[in-house]
Amino acid sequence: MVRACGSYPHGPGFKSLRRHQGRGGVAKRLRRRSAKSLFRGSNPRAASTSFLSEVFMYELIVRDEFSAAHFLRNYPGACERLHGHNWKVEVCVRAKELNDIGIAMDFKELKGLLKEVLDHLDHQDLNQHPAFSQQNPSSENIARYIFQQLASRLASSPVKLYKVTVCETERSCASYLEEASSL
Ligand SMILES: [Zn+2]
Repeated sequence: MVRACGSYPHGPGFKSLRRHQGRGGVAKRLRRRSAKSLFRGSNPRAASTSFLSEVFMYELIVRDEFSAAHFLRNYPGACERLHGHNWKVEVCVRAKELNDIGIAMDFKELKGLLKEVLDHLDHQDLNQHPAFSQQNPSSENIARYIFQQLASRLASSPVKLYKVTVCETERSCASYLEEASSL
């Protein structure tokens, strides 16, 4: 029986997720930048353009999935026993501008990179995976692993990786994002 066990309220993954989920900081920084940019110089058009150049105006989202087994060490319940999920993965990247044919990044290329990462997890016992030898393969930590693997593959691309969401059931999802990468 598949259990929803990614939403437990304690554990290292949850703390790390909470640390990166607050978006008030981003909004405040954006507001500060906005005010500064809008009042910079005497030409309102130039000020407005400067503001827009700092904003990621486009988001691309791709989805894929993988199947794997895992268990959560020290979890007080059924999820401490080996079981499996069909994890759904959603990746969101952001871009400031489009290329000359009107796209930020080819969906096909982005999907290919995601598949490359997920191939390392698909049909694996995640507790045996080197990435999870010290940390539980919780949905939170899986989302962070996928984010880090994708971020390095997107380092020279025209888009910035914004968020990775991993769902172990339709109603239980965890996201990982690094706010600094979005500004
Ligand atoms: Zn589970």
